[in-house]
Amino acid sequence: MLSHQTAKNAMRPTTYKHQAVQNLPVRSVRIDDAFWSPKLRIVRDVTAYDVLTKFESDGAMQNFDFVADGAEDGYHCGEPWFDGLIYETIRGLSDLLAVHDDEELNRRVDAVIAKIVRAQDAVGDGYLNTYTLLDRPEQRWGENGGNLRWQHDIYNAGCLVEAGVHHYKATGKTALLEAAVKMANHMSDRMGPPPKHNLVPAHSLPEEALLKLYQLAVDEPELSRVLPAPFEASRYLELAEFWIRNRGHHEGRQSHGEYAQDHLPVLQQEEAVGHAVRATLLYTGITALYLATGETAYLERAQKLWDNIAYQKSHVTGGVGAVHEEEKFGGGYELPDDGYLETCAGVGMGFFSWHLYLATGEGRYIDRLETILYNIVLAGRSMNGRKYFYENPLASHGGHHRWEWHSCPCCPPMILKLLPELGSYIYAYDGSGAFVNLYVASETELKIGEVAVRLRQETEYPWKGAVGIAVSPEREAAFALRLRIPEWCGTYAIRVNGKPVSCEVDRGYAVLSRTWSPEDRVVLDLDMPVDLIEAHPNVTTHADRAAIRRGPLLYCLESVDNEKYDKGVARYAREALDPAVRAGRKLPASPEFQTFYDPDFFDGAVTIRTEDDRGRPLVAIPYPYWNNRSRGAMDIWLAYDHPKTGTGWENKLYRKIPLG
Ligand SMILES: [Zn+2]
Repeated sequence: MLSHQTAKNAMRPTTYKHQAVQNLPVRSVRIDDAFWSPKLRIVRDVTAYDVLTKFESDGAMQNFDFVADGAEDGYHCGEPWFDGLIYETIRGLSDLLAVHDDEELNRRVDAVIAKIVRAQDAVGDGYLNTYTLLDRPEQRWGENGGNLRWQHDIYNAGCLVEAGVHHYKATGKTALLEAAVKMANHMSDRMGPPPKHNLVPAHSLPEEALLKLYQLAVDEPELSRVLPAPFEASRYLELAEFWIRNRGHHEGRQSHGEYAQDHLPVLQQEEAVGHAVRATLLYTGITALYLATGETAYLERAQKLWDNIAYQKSHVTGGVGAVHEEEKFGGGYELPDDGYLETCAGVGMGFFSWHLYLATGEGRYIDRLETILYNIVLAGRSMNGRKYFYENPLASHGGHHRWEWHSCPCCPPMILKLLPELGSYIYAYDGSGAFVNLYVASETELKIGEVAVRLRQETEYPWKGAVGIAVSPEREAAFALRLRIPEWCGTYAIRVNGKPVSCEVDRGYAVLSRTWSPEDRVVLDLDMPVDLIEAHPNVTTHADRAAIRRGPLLYCLESVDNEKYDKGVARYAREALDPAVRAGRKLPASPEFQTFYDPDFFDGAVTIRTEDDRGRPLVAIPYPYWNNRSRGAMDIWLAYDHPKTGTGWENKLYRKIPLG
């Protein structure tokens, strides 16, 4: 049993030494928001149970029983990475439990953990990968003629470590953390410079996971009293660093190739390539290694790779990984409408962006996280919380639908990892003040120097651009309040206690430096018109086309709303992919947009009405809401003639078209 003090420590978020800004634990931010709260409730009350139940009916949980019981006729159900997906689910559910003590969910998670622990104990040396143990027992870690890229041994192990840390931090319980430490110690004994084995993950994620365990060991060395020995921070840091440094060094092992970012040493990798989920998770790990060690070469490399993705390889929704074959990144500006854009890759890019924000305090990384949250992550699940997208194309003839479950159900656990963490992304702080990153009605308390400061946001974002923030230090105190000015926003106004103020913008944030008193009130008014967006001239698939955006949300046409347009056949969107059809049906030079808030559109949403160049009505809805009301067609990029200029595109892939 842990002491009260240790359990209290468990509530701290993972915070690395070299962070430029400090993050808050998810439980310290209370969200009460008209947009997000209903969606988070569905994640908690529906999706969390849905994913657990579907893994159970898949037979994936049974794999642990077969290993534990040494069943002679045991066989592995599902793909080799199912263990990892279950661990990822536990990580996500832990963050839900950190905020909301749900007895039933707690019980079900504990039951899965008991199965995992029983299986690991039966093996005896800390190792666990049910696929390898049941189907290839002689080929642990892909050695002895095995195939690590297929077996996912290190990936699964990394997911276990991450889940163990999150579950402990959420609940104070150590059963899964003990399993994680046994696994991490087993890997640390086996993998590393000679005479250890040269083994690196063929699917990234373990790098960041081991760094989280490292940080826990730094923060709470007293946990060694209850965890398997040795619980040593240095072991976990060395292993994570070995994995990152040894990419591209293939002595004594097979290369995992460009597919798994193993074609070159990481510090020589210039371009984001290969499997997009693996890539974004590797880059997250590289950034975390900087955060832990302060070695700037890792930060510079991560920023270079992020720039390459953000300014050459991202779709307008924030989706990444354009190419179906090998689920990989395409070349620069290769951004087809039917791009692959796996939900998991979007989530990976979200994690990568968040880590770079922690490293730098720059608002552009939060801009990216916001685009991904509002578009890719929300699109990844249905409004009822029980169906999921694997791919997130920008146009569909009507054949693309969310599924109930998948033979590779990797995306639901990734959604469960990101959305429950929303609370921890909203605010941050440093020695000089507080950051408001995301506009979500919520409340928190943080410490600036010695002064406790309460922040309370009221807003109807993303439907309205007005944000009220009550700033309440416990006593008068001088500090800076930084408000992110989103990349999409052209004009804004700020008032403090009713008086307009002007302030400098520093790295994406309007900086309000003053002496704050209890009950001071800030109002930020972000002008939120409907914008037409153009893509960089090098994106040939988007030449003479425009997308509709309002605030952080992309809008799309769905055939169910645009039926009248073509006698109920929904031909507009169905034929939208045909360039000849597009050219004949386009937006006028200066379209007029009308916005309507419809309280009955799911949990309430703003829809947009306009007309095409022949006066026929068009209705656009927020992209993440598509494929919830019908199984029809959808399109984001609409035909639009406008002169393009090749200048002013530095650090931009998309920009607003100035309308006359
Ligand atoms: Zn996926």
